[in-house]
Amino acid sequence: MADPVVIVGAGMAGLRAAEQLRAAGWEGPVTVIGEETHAPYNRPPLSKEALAGAADKPLHEVHASLAFRQRASVADVTWRLGTRVTGCDMDSRTVTLADETVLDYGGLVIATGLRPRRLRLSGPTVGRSALRTLDDAYALAPRLRAGARVVVIGGGFIGCEIAATAIGLGCAVTVVEPAPAPLATALGPEVGAAVQAFHERRGITFCTERKVVALTGDEAVSGVVLDDDSVLEADVVVEAVGSEPNVEWLAGNELDLSDGVLCDAQLRVVGRSDVVAVGDVARYPNLRFDDVPRRVEHWCTPTDTAKQAARTLVAQLRGTPATGACTAMPSFWSDQHGLRIQGFGLPGLADDVRVVTGDLDRVEDGVIVHYHRGERLVAALLVGIPASQHRAHRDLVEAANPLPTDDKLQTSVLKGVPA
Ligand SMILES: Cc1cc2nc3c(=O)[nH]c(=O)nc-3n(C[C@H](O)[C@H](O)[C@H](O)COP(=O)(O)OP(=O)(O)OC[C@H]3O[C@@H](n4cnc5c(N)ncnc54)[C@H](O)[C@@H]3O)c2cc1C
Repeated sequence: MADPVVIVGAGMAGLRAAEQLRAAGWEGPVTVIGEETHAPYNRPPLSKEALAGAADKPLHEVHASLAFRQRASVADVTWRLGTRVTGCDMDSRTVTLADETVLDYGGLVIATGLRPRRLRLSGPTVGRSALRTLDDAYALAPRLRAGARVVVIGGGFIGCEIAATAIGLGCAVTVVEPAPAPLATALGPEVGAAVQAFHERRGITFCTERKVVALTGDEAVSGVVLDDDSVLEADVVVEAVGSEPNVEWLAGNELDLSDGVLCDAQLRVVGRSDVVAVGDVARYPNLRFDDVPRRVEHWCTPTDTAKQAARTLVAQLRGTPATGACTAMPSFWSDQHGLRIQGFGLPGLADDVRVVTGDLDRVEDGVIVHYHRGERLVAALLVGIPASQHRAHRDLVEAANPLPTDDKLQTSVLKGVPA
């Protein structure tokens, strides 16, 4: 029998990769190896409704409410959950598990995602939380009791969502953010300031342009010290300061692991024809926009990347040329106090932000923002706008960023991507 395609990482991207391998016609064995003990589940609710509702439910019930449906096409896939991959030798095509078992592979899919970045702070470790997994959310939920003083470090999407959930549960919430406004990095300072004002109207306090430099407390955290020497008392401290790609197990294979795994536009890992990467860990160029490789940490990424990566890997295993490239329109959303923030495209490319509908003074009344690079529309953001209007703005971004010509695609794939 052929060596299996081994998928490392049993999150959404690992699951979608297994499904897409079958959809692309791979009939050989597939093994998915994942460190978490839970079958693949949906992460977005972990900072929203699942966090709000997990405190008084058994863990298996919370998991059941989040777990992805298992499609018939992957019923014959071998799952090795609760198993960490510690190493990989791409010359001999093997992966090594934590118990030192060595598995051969015919093709490899890297789907190991991210883990929360942690701050190096002096002080106690008990009482510090971060949020990526179901187990993280399940541990945090009972601590968000009414009246608890919660400090969220970091005002990105996940930090803002945790803050909104915590205040909804009756906590007293402060967000500490080094930038001038929350979400400023993702959406720009104007939109960030507008979202901050919205959160403030819901009772959340912000300490912007401030960093946490230490934690106070003896056995457990009792507060955070800011860089102006002020102290915020806290019962719960949540670090939401970004993520780090899980790539250590890939060391020694001469890959570019400087920010996730560098791939070409077909999701082939640069330098290795029989290895692809999918999901949050993959850094690849979306030729619809440009040829700069970047990681895209959105829920749509596992599905979008798995479709192309499976086509690429199956072609390689059959000895035929791979076709296509991952040119899907990036799409993301966030829910904060019940307000839907929906985005299409790459706002980070913009040098000009234009409000086309509504007023940033009250985002909850509905605002549409267009992000331009020069005259080119690179992203659209819709805040509190009915879903029926979303498609039109997505189409505008798509039209402004057409698919690359076959020539451009071919050239990019042949020359690989800049290291
Ligand atoms: C709290 C939270 C809220 C979110 N909300 C939104 C939202 O509202 N909207 C949106 O668009 N996106 C949201 N996202 C992002 C979205 O969920 C991610 O983009 C998506 O989960 C990425 O899936 P992935 O499979 O690539 O990575 P992951 O989900 O990180 O899965 C990777 C898996 O690989 C495993 N693994 C890692 N290393 C190893 C190893 N060495 N051996 C074996 N297994 C390993 C990990 O344990 C993990 O299970 C949110 C994410 C989080 C964490």
